[in-house]
Amino acid sequence: MSISEVAKKIRPSSTLSLSTNVRNLIKDGVDIVDFSAGEPDFDTPENIKQAAIEAINENFTRYTHYEGIYELREAIANDLKEKCSLEYSPEQIVVSNGSKHAIKNALTAITDPGDEIILPAPYWNSYLDMIYMVHGVPKIVNTRVQDSFKVTSRLLAEAITEKTKAIILNTPNNPTGMVYSREELEEIAAFVLKNNLYVISDEIYKKLIYSRKLKHTSIASLSDEIKDRTIVIDGFSKSYSMTGWRVGYSASNSEIAKAIGNIQSNSTSNVNSIAQMAALEALTGDKSFEEGMLHEFERRRDYIAQRISDIPMLSSLLPKGAFYLFVDVSRLIGKEIFDIKIQNSDDVAKILLDKYKVAVLPSHVFGIENYIRISFATSMSNIVEGVNRIEKFIKDNF
Ligand code: GLU
Repeated sequence: MSISEVAKKIRPSSTLSLSTNVRNLIKDGVDIVDFSAGEPDFDTPENIKQAAIEAINENFTRYTHYEGIYELREAIANDLKEKCSLEYSPEQIVVSNGSKHAIKNALTAITDPGDEIILPAPYWNSYLDMIYMVHGVPKIVNTRVQDSFKVTSRLLAEAITEKTKAIILNTPNNPTGMVYSREELEEIAAFVLKNNLYVISDEIYKKLIYSRKLKHTSIASLSDEIKDRTIVIDGFSKSYSMTGWRVGYSASNSEIAKAIGNIQSNSTSNVNSIAQMAALEALTGDKSFEEGMLHEFERRRDYIAQRISDIPMLSSLLPKGAFYLFVDVSRLIGKEIFDIKIQNSDDVAKILLDKYKVAVLPSHVFGIENYIRISFATSMSNIVEGVNRIEKFIKDNF
């Protein structure tokens, strides 16, 4: 007797396990600068917390509609219209336990065993395991730094087979911070339509874009045809600093939305009723928090990108969105320090953690070698201290 073949394939989430370990070490008094998790360090805004408290006081504590309360789905539909020019009815929105859950639901709704799902690398680690969970086959497409790590129709054409069912897109991107332009998405949309595929478009960082000239474009907004083939994913964790509340959603055509609702009704039912009221307040209440957080992230991005680019042997593209700096450490590979011959990004991350007390993610968890991911969703003082330590690591040893 043994656990299933699928369960054997599933790794613990690398992002969550590293950040949990680091938090435990910090709790034990170890002085670590934590650049691991992509989690805003801001408190959830007061008005959102108050909405939750009111929900409890008003006994809004029972099952809700399993697809989410209507007012929240209506507010999400309005937000998608305002921010992305996307028209969905509330019935096409399903509120889930975080966007991670929304992605898993979406994959469950469209994947038959053996279906191939194209996953451009570098990718956020959990996509891979979620594809396995639905008995899909990940088809990893390596993007190139020269293309700002973006997938192109040429790369997609090399990956497609008759079993291909969908592509996972993520813009702004975790871990690279890159943002797809409208033209780049148009090229992908044409490919998707020509080959009769679906797109799962994870747009969780859409409100965190730092370039004035760049605007978030949802691939679903390009035409009615591509909208019909796209499942848009978003959530409240990053934009409203609500990671622990677990509220995300999908927006899709009615057939898929119904399937997602059915799946969810038999698995987790509705998202916590109180968290739904908090999410409703996030979308309909005072918005000043959003802008303040964006400016602060931009300030941190500018600082950390400049400091890292000033350190010899390290380089990175300037992130246009999200809150990650994806740093090329390939010039360190093959060097020997602390009796360790550095072979990969894992060795770099280990040395940084063990010897310099800085926690970063090695890029192999994102399906690519020779990079480290630094999350700048942490205080400016942590960023200054962490970069000083990284600089010392380079200066001491190379
Ligand atoms: N998505 C964030 C990250 O990449 C949070 C942790 C997770 O769910 O992976 O760090």
